[in-house]
Amino acid sequence: MTIAPLTTGSSDGLDEKVLAVYDTILRRNPGELEFHQASHEVLETLGPVVAKHPEYVEAKLLERICEPERQIIFRVPWADDSGEVHVNRGFRVEFNSALGPYKGGLRFHPSVNLGIVKFLGFEQVFKNAVTGMPIGGGKGGADFDPRGRSDREIMRFCQSFMTELHRHLGEHTDVPAGDIGVGQRELGYLFGQYKRITNRYESGVLTGKGLTWGGARVRREATGYGCAYFVQEMLAARGSSLEGSDVVVSGAGNVAIYAVEKIAQLGGRVVAVSDSSGYVHDAAGIDLDLLKEVKEIERERIEVYAQRRGRGATFVADGSVWDVPCRVALPCATQNELTERDALRLIEGGVVAVGEGANMPCTPEAVRAFRAAGVLFAPGKAANAGGVATSALEMQQNASRDSWTFEHSEQRLQEIVQEMHAACCATAEEYGAPGDYVVGANITGFVRVADAMLAHGLI
Ligand code: GLU
Repeated sequence: MTIAPLTTGSSDGLDEKVLAVYDTILRRNPGELEFHQASHEVLETLGPVVAKHPEYVEAKLLERICEPERQIIFRVPWADDSGEVHVNRGFRVEFNSALGPYKGGLRFHPSVNLGIVKFLGFEQVFKNAVTGMPIGGGKGGADFDPRGRSDREIMRFCQSFMTELHRHLGEHTDVPAGDIGVGQRELGYLFGQYKRITNRYESGVLTGKGLTWGGARVRREATGYGCAYFVQEMLAARGSSLEGSDVVVSGAGNVAIYAVEKIAQLGGRVVAVSDSSGYVHDAAGIDLDLLKEVKEIERERIEVYAQRRGRGATFVADGSVWDVPCRVALPCATQNELTERDALRLIEGGVVAVGEGANMPCTPEAVRAFRAAGVLFAPGKAANAGGVATSALEMQQNASRDSWTFEHSEQRLQEIVQEMHAACCATAEEYGAPGDYVVGANITGFVRVADAMLAHGLI
């Protein structure tokens, strides 16, 4: 998988009133390229909003929304199985609590730094608002590499991480969940340590928990399912569907696996998946059970899938999964994984819809290419919001000490996705950009947060 080199965004395309806000972001957050990119992408769409709402400008809402409420950076020391001591850096950026407690995942990956956590936290604020659920936005993580670590090492790392982070959390304050490198195993160790330190069984302090200790049905599936549902909604609005479509999904983690599952249930066929070592092309359609066995249970490389699948499936080392032609593309791996070159290849191959299952997987140039070519483009703030929306449903179940069935939970998820799609369409229409989901999601999220902040006064 090739990741584009990052450059700080130019001020092109920014309305005069938001230009100064972006300049301040560049000056105040030097070197945080992903944060510059994410904030530019939102600010770029806010020209018509500031023109319509002088009260936002007067209250300096843009400046306030782009500045996190609180940023926490801490040392995470731990010892590996041989006794060697390691020191990692932990983060939690509590970005905005206008709509509810800070909500967003934790990422454990060697690439994690303040700029990455801030871009993710910023996206989360708007995404969470788009869901319509009562949750603010935040994100955290560590530059820890879980690859090759034993269960005991993972546990010790999680315990050390939570020993520091616990003082900042609470079901009414800040509620983390998983992200890349943080799944149910890690959440279990984190929850155990939180419970031990606080002496409280505070179920609603984390989401993505196991079903036997406060977790909610469909949370595991929700991000991938939500992405597939959102694309289905976009197609349905144009009298089309996923039926018979070849679909390419990048990644092979939690989001990708359940996107593959739902696409198949909705009548599509996923013909390729990938991980950081390369991609697998399986023209007959990805065998979901095998994919789960290799990636979820054995935590193996994707090449093992091709080896076991036998004839028909090919593994391409270090290749771009976007070289496989398809009608629908779902980037579900990581930020900036789909470049302009990839977008042009996909367009050439006949892509009609793209749904971002990951956070900011398409570079700004790729997004521009899709929009210029009239490809239906669902940004992550809508297309992957099913995950965090279901986290809010988990919090709801924890608060009422209830546990819903799979069917009811999935139905709620589907309703939320339909509502998000309708809200994005209505907002895009209202602001003169019908059919533009980037404008729709950004402005829907922004206005909801901005109105709550106005109501709360200057804080
Ligand atoms: N990390 C996920 C996201 O990017 C989930 C966050 C959550 O459930 O709080 O939205």
